[in-house]
Amino acid sequence: MMPSADNHKISNSFLEINIDSIIHNYQLINNKVGNTECAAVLKADAYGMGASVIAKALDRAGCSTFFVATIDEGIELRTCFSKTENKIAVLSGFLEGSEDIFYNNKLTPVLNDIEQIKKWDLYNKQKKISAPSILHIDTGMNRLGLTVSEFYDIIRRPTVLKELHVGWIMTHLACGDQPHNIMNKKQLSVFLNAKKKFPNVKASLANSAGVFLGKSYHLDMVRPGIALYGSGFGSIPSNPLKQVIKLYSRILQIRTLSRGASVGYGASYRVSEATRVATVGLGYADGYLRSLSNCSWVFFNGVKLPVIGRISMDYITVDITKIASEKIKTGDFIEIIGDKFTLDDLATVANTVPHELLTRLGTRHHRIYRNTDNVSK
Ligand SMILES: *Cc1c(COP(=O)(O)O)cnc(C)c1O
Repeated sequence: MMPSADNHKISNSFLEINIDSIIHNYQLINNKVGNTECAAVLKADAYGMGASVIAKALDRAGCSTFFVATIDEGIELRTCFSKTENKIAVLSGFLEGSEDIFYNNKLTPVLNDIEQIKKWDLYNKQKKISAPSILHIDTGMNRLGLTVSEFYDIIRRPTVLKELHVGWIMTHLACGDQPHNIMNKKQLSVFLNAKKKFPNVKASLANSAGVFLGKSYHLDMVRPGIALYGSGFGSIPSNPLKQVIKLYSRILQIRTLSRGASVGYGASYRVSEATRVATVGLGYADGYLRSLSNCSWVFFNGVKLPVIGRISMDYITVDITKIASEKIKTGDFIEIIGDKFTLDDLATVANTVPHELLTRLGTRHHRIYRNTDNVSK
């Protein structure tokens, strides 16, 4: 439903985030993976959607393990929960000197190299505690985590292994969004072999795309992030997830250009006939990537309209010639992301992933959280 302009008198654009749809997506994945635990990845402020609101809603929906990227995100997320049982794991590992911060905020470090393993072990011994950690094995991403040979090195030194307070091992898929890519099976098999060395330890491999690769990829815990927002289901033809966000921006001015006139910076677009153009209030500072210049679309009352000229910091220009002039006016809202043109559609046009679009939306859109009843207080 189009918002009424009255409710949003002061904003150029607004972002609607439907909490019920996030919960729906979480529950759908949770049901799909059966007895496997379903965690949630809330790094980068829950992909820019607001970690506090979303964490509380997921907590109410039964989620009890959350992943963030940085220690600061972990500290912030800890303050969102009234109960301390919720687990918060920090993917980037930890730097020397941050042990107390991890422990005091009840954050679980993901141990990415041998030094981190030793330091966490030493800290546990000194404090006479057994605080949990997750051991990250890199099975092909070549980004973070112990290499497979480092892992087997550790295994060969049983004293180190015995001391490890590792409750979990994890790895991360490089090509989960390509179901037929041979990398997926290879990574799974390397990881399962590693897991055999740790019979009592639980294992996690799948991100959102991994969830949709099938049961053998689920193991003990899945870690969806983008799927909570309705994307990242790989190339499954019919997406079972619900769309979560809608983005509307306001028409600030309308003008008619005569044949041959140019639009915007660099005069990169010239109209070949008389053209009605609307200037709309969002730009690359609002996450509408500059690379979308002259190649994207928006919708108005179900009609697809081309974005013309360069995207500037605060504005885009749209060819509205197709809409009768009495049907469109300054102040009306244009659909940027919504039912007609989803986050995935825009990501495809922008030649990027939905993750990047979401995390770049920024803070200038007026935000409306719908259906927040499920958010625990
Ligand atoms: C970001 C991330 C995820 C979640 O990925 P999605 O594609 O958003 O589901 C899971 N695991 C790790 C290690 C990550 O970095």
